[in-house]
Amino acid sequence: MHETDMTKALILTVKDWQESQKENPQISCIHLIVGKFTCVEPVGLQFAFEVQTKNTFLNGVKLVIQETPLVAFCHQCQAEYHPEIGIQYACPQCKSPMDDIRSGRELKIDRVEYVENYAPNF
Ligand SMILES: [Zn+2]
Repeated sequence: MHETDMTKALILTVKDWQESQKENPQISCIHLIVGKFTCVEPVGLQFAFEVQTKNTFLNGVKLVIQETPLVAFCHQCQAEYHPEIGIQYACPQCKSPMDDIRSGRELKIDRVEYVENYAPNF
């Protein structure tokens, strides 16, 4: 997946949210959850975000990325395990192929920090 397209989608989502708020919140920080198995590079995402938000309503807003590890569940063993990305996608106990991913594919906004703007609208 391309970080540039992802960032575009992220900005649109935040914009929609902001426009739906009555108080016209001043966003200060966006917390993202990015799974290790999404192939999204946090560094690339940070860079794309900085470039695309320059001189927009998100100018100077901080992007905080929290990565989640890849966790799979083996139904044979009834246990969770951590597949090695790029090396082995199978249960270390019984070698069943990975088929039930429990975490690591997330790509979502965790929360947005903002200050409500109480300036009256005349
Ligand atoms: Zn197993």
